This record gives sequence, C-alpha cells and structure tokens, in this order.
Amino acid sequence: MSRVLLLVLALTLAPLLTACGAGSSDGRPTVVASFYPLQYVVSQLAGSHVRVLDLTQPGVEPHDLELKVRQVAEVSAADLVVYEHGLQPSVDDAVANNAGDHGLDVAPLVDLRGGNPHFWLDPLRLARAARGIEARLAKVDPAHAGDYAANLATLTATLEDVDREYRTGLAHCERNLVVTSHDAFGYQEKYGLRFAPLAGLSPDAEPSPAHLDRLRSLIDREHITTVFSETLASPKMADTLSHDLGLEAAVLDPIEGVAQGSSKDYVSIMRANLASLQKANGCEVAS
Ligand SMILES: [Zn+2]
Repeated sequence: MSRVLLLVLALTLAPLLTACGAGSSDGRPTVVASFYPLQYVVSQLAGSHVRVLDLTQPGVEPHDLELKVRQVAEVSAADLVVYEHGLQPSVDDAVANNAGDHGLDVAPLVDLRGGNPHFWLDPLRLARAARGIEARLAKVDPAHAGDYAANLATLTATLEDVDREYRTGLAHCERNLVVTSHDAFGYQEKYGLRFAPLAGLSPDAEPSPAHLDRLRSLIDREHITTVFSETLASPKMADTLSHDLGLEAAVLDPIEGVAQGSSKDYVSIMRANLASLQKANGCEVAS
C-alpha cells in the first residue's frame, strides 16, 4: 500500500479513535512501542497506568515489519510512540507522517555504534533508553510520575545486575569467538566477546561462498564448538554449517521479539543467552 494512501486512511481514522479517548476506552493513556525490547521497558515503567500496544506481533521479525492500516491509526491516535529510527522503515514513515509531536526516537539516547541498531543487547544502553522513556511518560501522565520514577529505579537496578552477571560470567573463558547467524551482538563485545556473523545486520542477507570459507577456517583455528542460530530467523544456514563441520547447533536470542505464547521476558532471555555463551566458550561458572 502506498505511503500516501496510508496517510489518508490514518487521517480519516484518527478523529474516530480520538473521539473515544485517544484510542483507549478506559481513560488511560495509550503508549505504542514499535518492537519487543521497547514494549518491555514501557510495561516495566508504566505497570497498569497506561495501555501498551506493540506494533510487532509475537513471532514476527521486526526488521521486516510492514504496518497494517489499523496500526498506522494507532500510531496516529497514541499519546506516545516509542520507536528506534533506522530499525523499521515502515514505523519511521508512520511516525513521520502521523505521530505529530508524540514520537520518541530512542536512537539518540543510546549512543548507537556504527549503524548497528541492536543496542538493547547492552543492558546499560537499554537502561539509558528507559530513562528517556520515563521522562516522557511523566509528561504524558504527570499524576503517576512518582510511580514511573520508582519503577525506573527498579528496572535500572535489574539491568545493572544483568550487566554485572555478563561481566563476571564471561571473565574466564577458554575462547571468546562466537559464531552467530546475523550481526546483532556487537554491543556485547564489551564483555570481551568477538562475533563472527554468518550474515549482515539484517537476518535476510545471504553470506557469500568466500565469506563462508573464511568462517570455516576461523572456526577451525579458534576451536569453535558451537554455531548459534536465532529464535525468529530461519536456522537453516547455521544448521547446515554446524552439521558440515560437526559442531553443536544452539540458539542465541537477539531479543528482537518474543515467540508466540512465550512466558520469557528480556531479563530471562538475557540470562539464558549468558548460560549458552558460557557453555559454548568454556567459561568458568561461579557457583
Ligand atoms: Zn536484527
């Protein structure tokens, strides 16, 4: 559908939604988050004070998201839209055309490295995003500003705990090279890890035969035990490589979304990833 048509539909639908209270039937503000880690932060900060909508449905790869007309209308009617410019072009378009002054781009808050959008894999960067989101929530809904500040303190402490667990948990390992399917994990180099991705920054990019050859010799030289694939992207390439080389295949979750029906959250997935990294790299695990 063309951008102009979406815009026209959104403008037509927006007054209807606004007429029933900014898209919410119960008087609470509505906050739209564009994908899971942002939805997680908004929910942790806001509790039940706001209605939270996630534009990326469970099980959907956020890079590829195409918004439905209904979702463009949600962006238009929301009290706040939290998104990351550059990760999801269709969200960037909807915000630019329909969100007015109620968009919050977290990219400038988190110090993105070299065009890599996956900042949430560094829990301290996610905490920075949370600070900015909390400030906007307090403006949208000043009556609950005290709760938002208290929830920010709790969330920040949790994210700092996770960061500490990674630091200590990866401090003494037999190796530090990690083979993953797409180039999502660069923000975890600060824990002494190095990453050799099969594909590029988006999971759809196919590796060249020359790239695969380089990877094979790297895997040999560094005594790699495991090839990681991820939760939402197809594991085919990683599985083929691990099978060819007689290595283990395991999952490292870039936390771009949660699987359908999953009870896991950002923190439990980060901890599961840490355990997988420790196993693959032969790390000393403190008891
Ligand atoms: Zn990604």
